[in-house]
Amino acid sequence: MGTPRETRDDQAAEVIDRLEAEYPDSTISLRYSNRLELLIAVILSAQCTDERVNAETEHLFETYQSPEDYANAPQEELAEALNSINFYNNKAGYIREACALIVEEHDGEVPDTMDELTELPGVGRKTANVVLQHGHDVVEGIVVDTHVQRLTRRLGITEEERPEAIEQDLLDIVPEGYWVQFTHLLIDHGRATCTARNPDCESCVLADICPSEKGDSDVDLASGEPW
Ligand code: SF4
Repeated sequence: MGTPRETRDDQAAEVIDRLEAEYPDSTISLRYSNRLELLIAVILSAQCTDERVNAETEHLFETYQSPEDYANAPQEELAEALNSINFYNNKAGYIREACALIVEEHDGEVPDTMDELTELPGVGRKTANVVLQHGHDVVEGIVVDTHVQRLTRRLGITEEERPEAIEQDLLDIVPEGYWVQFTHLLIDHGRATCTARNPDCESCVLADICPSEKGDSDVDLASGEPW
């Protein structure tokens, strides 16, 4: 078991420092070229890998380009175009309804406030945060996806369990200038080393400060279960 820094603020700062050195080019991995494409890609990425979403949107974004295109597409046709994505039928429905609202209430533009975004079907706080940060350069919060949820708990940065509660906790701990980058760094580390089922603690740059480190700790603090 590693020994975490004395306070959670110091622990977060140390994690950021080390992961910045490890992943200097860390950034969003979804591909998009405008706000609408970003919104669609993020809706599709729920419980699906960014890699799979990118493979699917490559042709999707050629076929559908405006919110009207999505809103007017028949449900079956859009679902068919998304059929390699988890929950494609539901997501096709969300995208059609969200785009209809964007046309009817927002003059065809993807909204730029948390309240308006989370009123769109299929858009929760996590999706809205990504669209605000990367589509509008508005940083209101921290994106907590499954990697951020797992790693912040493993590293002893939070004891909260739900993504919304973890985000509120992190907003007091992570320096505001890192609210965007914190997510990308943890996602990169979660993919490369601290994977859900078999984290590679032996080669982890955080091992000496991680209270879940497998060599010494019996417990994965993310789940609270024994390794
Ligand atoms: S890989 Fe192991 S040591 Fe590194 S952060 Fe994850 S649980 Fe901790």
